[in-house]
Parts: sequence; C-alpha cells; structure tokens
Amino acid sequence: MNECVFCKIVKREIPSDKIYEDDNFFAFLDINPNNPGHTLVIPKNHYENIYSLPDEILCDIGPIVKKISIAVKKGVNADGINIIMNNDIAAGQIVPHAHFHVIPRFADDGLRHWPRKSYSNKEEVAKTAGKIKKELT
Ligand code: 5GP
Ligand code: ZN
Repeated sequence: MNECVFCKIVKREIPSDKIYEDDNFFAFLDINPNNPGHTLVIPKNHYENIYSLPDEILCDIGPIVKKISIAVKKGVNADGINIIMNNDIAAGQIVPHAHFHVIPRFADDGLRHWPRKSYSNKEEVAKTAGKIKKELT
C-alpha cells in the first residue's frame, strides 16, 4: 500500500540526489528538471495532494520550501524561482505523493508561462467568484 516512487525514494529503495532531510520532510533533485537545480520538496508520509495534506504538515513545509528556494537560487545563481504544486492528473500531477516543485529560472531560459484567458464579462467574473466562495462556507 502507498508504495509510490517518492515513498521508495524516502526509504532509499530508489536512489536520489538528496538536498535536504529532517524527521518529516525530504528534498531531492528532480530527475527531469525544467532547469538544473529543479528540486522537489515532499512530506515523508504519503499524502496524495493538497486536498489531503494535513494543515500542520502544510504549515511546516512552507518554511522548508522557502529555505530550499533560497538555497537553489543562490546555489545555481538563478534569476528567479517558480514554486509549483500539481494536483490531479488534469493539472499535470504524475506522481501521486504531494510535492512542491522549486524551479530555478534564468532570464534567458526560454521557458514560457501558460497563456492567459479572459472572462467574457463582469457577470461571469462575479458568478465565478460566487461559486468558489460558496464552497468556503
Ligand atoms: P508531477 O508532474 O507529479 O508534479 O511531478 C513529478 C516529478 O517527479 C516530475 O518532474 C518527474 O521528473 C519527477 N520524478 C519522477 N520520478 C522520479 C524519480 O524516480 N526520481 C526523481 N528524482 N524524480 C522523479
Ligand atoms: Zn508516496
């Protein structure tokens, strides 16, 4: 059960290039980086995504993602950092073990951000905000 690829990395059943480890968290280089230095930060325990990640784990992983971001930026002399978390297949999640991507960016790296869309009118904006806010109550 839950023997996903990242669980195996934590248990050293699959090798990885470790960047950081403590009792609850692990960080290692992504095997197919967007840029050299691309690092993944994960909780050691298996949670599939943001929806099931306990609040206390989320609180604790934030400062680690920050620390790793600063180290990656300095370590590979990056011009910027993207922090990305993919949740669900539709959002590009391939490994079903919650993880944050810390991706170094360079002014000339040629990577492009997703194209933006527009709302048709103000009513659509208000309706969309309403549908989301309803789910918070
Ligand atoms: P996702 O698309 O799920 O957000 O990202 C999963 C990431 O894990 C991908 O960027 C992929 O390159 C990386 N990855 C998948 N398998 C391995 C592995 O065995 N070792 C390492 N270091 N990275 C992996
Ligand atoms: Zn796992």
